[in-house]
Amino acid sequence: MKFNTKAIHGGQQHDPSTGAVMPPIYQTSTYAQTTPGGHKGYEYSRTGNPTRTALENALASIENGKFGLAFGSGLAAIDAIIKMLKPGDEVISTNDLYGGTFRIFTKIFEQYNIVFHFVGMDNIASVEAKINTNTKLIWAETPTNPMLNIIDIKALADVAKKQGILFGVDNTFATPYLQNPLDLGADLVMHSATKYLGGHSDVVMGALIVNDKDLADKLYFIQNASGAVCGPMDSFLVLRGIKTLHVRMQRHCENGRAVAEFLQAHSKIENVYWPGFESHPNHEIAKKQMRDFGGMLSFTTKGNNYKAAISMVENLKVFTLAESLGGVESLSGHPASMTHASIPKEEREKTGVVDSLIRLSVGIEDIADLIADLEQALAKI
Ligand SMILES: *Cc1c(COP(=O)(O)O)cnc(C)c1O
Repeated sequence: MKFNTKAIHGGQQHDPSTGAVMPPIYQTSTYAQTTPGGHKGYEYSRTGNPTRTALENALASIENGKFGLAFGSGLAAIDAIIKMLKPGDEVISTNDLYGGTFRIFTKIFEQYNIVFHFVGMDNIASVEAKINTNTKLIWAETPTNPMLNIIDIKALADVAKKQGILFGVDNTFATPYLQNPLDLGADLVMHSATKYLGGHSDVVMGALIVNDKDLADKLYFIQNASGAVCGPMDSFLVLRGIKTLHVRMQRHCENGRAVAEFLQAHSKIENVYWPGFESHPNHEIAKKQMRDFGGMLSFTTKGNNYKAAISMVENLKVFTLAESLGGVESLSGHPASMTHASIPKEEREKTGVVDSLIRLSVGIEDIADLIADLEQALAKI
């Protein structure tokens, strides 16, 4: 089955009892048993729920994996992965990680003596330099947030495989429409389904997809034992979101390209960070592992003025100033005062998060309206 068909039908069947084309929202916590222990596959909704099962099968299908797991948030999914480790185990991750992932690693799991190393992952040698006998997990994210750096998934998978280390990829920005880490050798794929998979800014959810049965069993055990599951209504919403993922992504990519090219040509713009440009430092890797370049981009304005950037995001009308990304509506964000405000200026500037940096999640509105909106806001700075 090709991706566009899988997005709609992958892992799905009509409801066996009624023929309902969409799975019902099984809004139940428990299931009747005919005799103690006698039930039709479900006993309690933390352990399993038919609406969640339908979603988990869809997740596995679109990522070309065998097993899918849905959680109450993207961070709950990451939490489950790290709970497979033991005190003393070490993790190597990228140094421009999503802030919430950095926070759970350093503020929660370092307390339990899990050791984290953060390196520039575009340099494979710097990853290899941190590997020792305690290394149990390599954790990557590509494209990265908010600088849109690209990490070579296949090259890292080869290193991890050679050393017998588990390798996981946060595929939230790319989505399975653009990139399938399992096909490139990763063991684990994670999503904040809150973003493109849900796609309508109306649900918070996380997902994991794996191929290995033992790994899946460990994660199913943690999913049930720790209990950070999502409810049936949210499962239904994300399942519905996935059915239009390919159509939305196609437009996100088209609009993302048009906005990137418009900004690149504008006299008030300094830099545009978008992996589709040939001048992007990792363009060749992006071209190799992604089918297109997505709807996320960041840019800086000439003069690098903090106040001008704030005024720009305040003046945008079609782009809403908000956290998050990946919904049908266009969003803007100012990392220096929002997501990265707690990082000292010198530190954040080292990774490119300068005062004038603005991040856009380009939505699927009419491109003429998006460009006119950027044009009028740029005219005022
Ligand atoms: C949002 C996000 C997360 C966290 O997901 P939540 O659903 O907010 O818990 C993790 N990684 C990336 C890349 C994200 O954008």
